[in-house]
Amino acid sequence: MNVMKEWWSVTGKKTRKIAAELEKLFPVAKTELNFQNPFQLLVAVVLSAQSTDRQVNKVTEKLFLFVKEPRDLLDMGEEELSRQIRSLGLYRSKARNLIKIAEILEREYQGQVPDSFAELLKLPGVGPKTAEVIIGVGFNKPAFPVDTHVFRVARRLGLSKAKTPESVSLDLKKIFSPSSWIDLHHRLIFFGRRICKAQKPSCNICPFPEFCQKEE
Ligand code: SF4
Repeated sequence: MNVMKEWWSVTGKKTRKIAAELEKLFPVAKTELNFQNPFQLLVAVVLSAQSTDRQVNKVTEKLFLFVKEPRDLLDMGEEELSRQIRSLGLYRSKARNLIKIAEILEREYQGQVPDSFAELLKLPGVGPKTAEVIIGVGFNKPAFPVDTHVFRVARRLGLSKAKTPESVSLDLKKIFSPSSWIDLHHRLIFFGRRICKAQKPSCNICPFPEFCQKEE
């Protein structure tokens, strides 16, 4: 690491610059998934594995006319749910998990989505990233979900050297204030999708060349 990068890495100036520039680039920080309540968000996030937000929104536009709470999914049944989401990858396992989730929510949580990280992780098909999204986006509580874009960008910007999304999330939580976590999550995703792409990033318009630690 050169002297300049080392200096930036030990000052809060770096994190302030990243937060400020991302806010300028992406003033509106919100998920691109459509939903009206925490349960619909949970359904949308489960559906989004290996699918784009646009594909999921296309499916949920119709699905959410009928599905507003777990009971609606149980009334629909796994076969019809599979049929409605069949344009998405892994649709059979997603349908199976969603029906199991709806059963558990009805049986153990009075049809409500729990707002606890530990409880969410008990649901089938719900991993740490999904749980953090539900907590942060669905319940507006401090959470820093790390998806593939946040993982890549955080490492390229030298915000974390960790090798798993969960560890990167812990690092990001240490260097940014809790009130900024969820907005930064959205903005790092936008930055990763539109500028710091996995392949052929648009480095010519990147506001952070001095921080970049991308290996060639
Ligand atoms: S310079 Fe390029 S690779 Fe590095 S952070 Fe910016 S966009 Fe990403």
